[in-house]
Amino acid sequence: MKVKMILPALAEAESPFWRPIKYSLFPPLGLATLASYLSDEDEIDLIDQHVEKIDLNDNPDLVVIQVYITNAFRSYKLADHYRSQGAYVILGGLHVTSLPDEAAKHANSIFIGPGEDTFPQFLKDYKANRPQKVYRSTQRSLIGIPPIRRDLIKRNRYLVPNSIVVTRGCPHHCDFCYKDAFFEGGKTFYTQQVDEALAEIDLLPGKHLYFLDDHLLGNAKFASSLFDGMKGMNRVFQGAATIDSILRGNLIEKAAEAGMRSVFVGFETFSPENLKQSNKKQNLAKSYEEAVARLHSLGIMVNGSFVFGLDDDGPDVFKRTVDWGVKNGITTSTYHVLTPYPGTRLFQDMESENRILHRNWDLYDTRKVVYKTTKLSASELEDGYNWAYKEFYSWSNILKGSFSHDSYKHKLKHLMYSGGWKKFEPLWNFIIKTKGLNQMLPLLESILSEVKPKKNSSSFINSAQTTTS
Ligand code: SF4
Repeated sequence: MKVKMILPALAEAESPFWRPIKYSLFPPLGLATLASYLSDEDEIDLIDQHVEKIDLNDNPDLVVIQVYITNAFRSYKLADHYRSQGAYVILGGLHVTSLPDEAAKHANSIFIGPGEDTFPQFLKDYKANRPQKVYRSTQRSLIGIPPIRRDLIKRNRYLVPNSIVVTRGCPHHCDFCYKDAFFEGGKTFYTQQVDEALAEIDLLPGKHLYFLDDHLLGNAKFASSLFDGMKGMNRVFQGAATIDSILRGNLIEKAAEAGMRSVFVGFETFSPENLKQSNKKQNLAKSYEEAVARLHSLGIMVNGSFVFGLDDDGPDVFKRTVDWGVKNGITTSTYHVLTPYPGTRLFQDMESENRILHRNWDLYDTRKVVYKTTKLSASELEDGYNWAYKEFYSWSNILKGSFSHDSYKHKLKHLMYSGGWKKFEPLWNFIIKTKGLNQMLPLLESILSEVKPKKNSSSFINSAQTTTS
C-alpha cells in the first residue's frame, strides 16, 4: 500500500513575518509515530510542507493529514484533491478534534483525540474494507508502543532532529489551551514507561535532545526516574515546565543534573485577575522572579511565554512584560496575542458573550486579534505585540539581559542563544537552503553546555518563598 503522510504548512508560512528557521526546528513526530503502525511492505512518503514541496502528481492509496488550526483550510484543499484522485483520506489532529463536523466534510475518516491508540484499529478496518467514519480515542496508553519511524524523518532539514515526546497531555487545565479538548473522553495526562523512554533516548545520535512534552515535570515520579536514568548519558536537553513545578521540591535540580540547559515556561501574565480568568492556577501566588533565579542558579536558560490581550491587560502591559524579561535575564521570549481556539473554554466563553469576530482560521495565528477586546483596542494589541518582539530582541536589550547573569559563561550563552535566534536570519535562510541545518547541532550543543551552579545556590533554593508576582 502507498501511504502519504502530510503535515501541511501553517498559514503563517505565507506571512511577510515568516521565519523559515522557526518552522524548521522540529520534525513531524506525530506522523512518524503513526507510521510505526504501518507494515514493512507499505511504501510511506512522509512530507512536512514547512521544509519541502508537496508533489501532487502522485497516487497514494491512503493519505493521512495532520490538521492544526492555521493549516486547516490548506489541509482540506489537499484532502479534497486526493479524494478526487481516488485516495482514501484521513484527517486528525487538534483542529479535527475541536471541529470534527467541519473536518468530516473533507475526509473519508476522521480521528478525534490522539491517534496512536485508534490508528491500529483503523488499519485493521481499512484492510478488511470496513473503515469507520469516525475514530474516537478513549483508551490511551504509551506502554509498549512501537518505536517511532525516525528513518522517515529528513534529519538534515531540521535544527532539532532529536525531538522527543515521552508524555502526552498535561495535568493542568488552562482555559486558553487546546489540551483539554484534545484529550477529552480519556486520560488527559499519561507517560511512557521510563525504561522505554530511556531506550528511545539512547538511540538518538549526538548529545542534544528537545523534549516537546507540554510539561516534562508534570508527573514528578516519572520525571525523577527519567532524570536519574539520564544522569550518565552525557546529554544536554531542553524542555517545558510550569512555574509551580520549578519551585517545588528538587525535581528541577535533578533535571539540571541530567542535562537540562533551557526550559520553556508559560508565565503568560503578571495579573492575578488574568490568571484567574484563564484558570492558570499553577501560576497564582507564585514568585516568577524566584522561579527564574532558581533556574539561573542551576545554569538553565529560560524561554518565557507571555500572552497579551487578556481582559485585565491595559496599554502598559507590553512595556512591563518586556522590561521584566530583560531585567530577569529571560533568554528568549515568545509573545502571543490571546487566541480563542475552538474547542477551548475560552472560545466557549467568548462565543457566549458574542466576542468572536470571525472564523477565518488562517488568522488564528496568535499574531492577530480575532475577538472583541476590553481594555485595549485591537490595533493597540497588535501594535503592542509587534513592538514587544522588536524591543525585547533589540541588541541593547539582548546585551542588558545577558549582563544580568552572574557568570561570564552564562552571559555569553545568553548573548549567543538570543542573538543567534533572532539576529542572523539571512544566515539561517542560507543554511536551510543548503539543507545543512543539522550541521549546526554541535554549535547548539556547545551553547547549551553546562554552566556550573554557584556554590550557594541551594541556600537560595531553600529560602524560596511563594508570593504573588
Ligand atoms: S500548563 Fe500549558 S500545556 Fe498545560 S494546560 Fe496550561 S497551557 Fe496547556
